[in-house]
Amino acid sequence: MKICQNCGQVIANDASFCPRCGHNQSSYAASSIPRKLESEAVVEREQKIKEYYKIARDRINLELRYQALNELARLGARDELMKIASNPMMRGKIRERALELLKTT
Ligand SMILES: [Zn+2]
Repeated sequence: MKICQNCGQVIANDASFCPRCGHNQSSYAASSIPRKLESEAVVEREQKIKEYYKIARDRINLELRYQALNELARLGARDELMKIASNPMMRGKIRERALELLKTT
């Protein structure tokens, strides 16, 4: 068993996401990413944000959408989280999660 780094819930060792808060359990594992040129990193970040924003808004499975929201928070994409949180067309759970993440992003 391990502990969710976000909410403290006890979860299975092989769980990719916390069943309680949806936190991605692998997001902190890859800490040895090689340094890139700053401009390259900026472009990459923007592409990632675009990609995750699309996933978070698409009507695919909830777990993937939670993961995308977590990634947006990790990338500091406050604007995108804000757009999702304030979009009345979004599912309530997704909006709530986006709002929650905004508090710590
Ligand atoms: Zn959790």
